[in-house]
Amino acid sequence: MIRLPVMRYLSFLVRQTANNGTTGRMYCTTAKFCWSCSKPLVKKDKFFCGSCGSLQRVEEVDYFKLLDVSNEFDLDPFALTSNFRRLQSMLHPDKFSRRSNEEKTNSLEWSSLVNKAYKTLNTPLQRGRYILKQNGILISEENTSVDPEFLMDMMDKNEAVEEASNYDDLDEIGQTLKAEIDELYEQLNKSFLENNLDEAKENLIRLKYLLNIEAVVKEKLLHYKVK
Ligand SMILES: [Zn+2]
Repeated sequence: MIRLPVMRYLSFLVRQTANNGTTGRMYCTTAKFCWSCSKPLVKKDKFFCGSCGSLQRVEEVDYFKLLDVSNEFDLDPFALTSNFRRLQSMLHPDKFSRRSNEEKTNSLEWSSLVNKAYKTLNTPLQRGRYILKQNGILISEENTSVDPEFLMDMMDKNEAVEEASNYDDLDEIGQTLKAEIDELYEQLNKSFLENNLDEAKENLIRLKYLLNIEAVVKEKLLHYKVK
């Protein structure tokens, strides 16, 4: 089959332009024809052309749709993981080792997108940030919106972790943190369910602080266990 270099170049341009957004990769959504046989693609031909069976180019941008789970914070983690595994086995580059170079490239791109989507949705903090981003809300690194009282509390906690010099003290701090984190998850569920995105943002920022401290505690605990 003759491939038109001009078409490929144009498609490349479209991809490049679409990639310029600051919120991650975007994909061209206008081209709805199979790159291989040029037949029109229908909605159910999400990955493969219904006519010739070729693996199509990456274009899905919504992680929830890609992984076929409901677009909500409180998603079903088992469905997420099982859909991820199904997609990964369907789109894995090993499956395309005897296919055309175009399909090999497409399979690599799909696989990496599916991995990225799964990583994002499988972590509550990242999932929450992703939902906010979909709604045009970004969390800046400065986190200036957190109230001073909370920040003081975080400083105290950091200090306590730093000063803790035995396993039991650290373990106790870890237990308290875990309870607070679990409570925040509950609050986040509620905020997203009520579509209170400002509150969700605030809670996600708090969650990030707590998870950071928890990570330090876990690291230190490991050190004591090794000893
Ligand atoms: Zn086709």
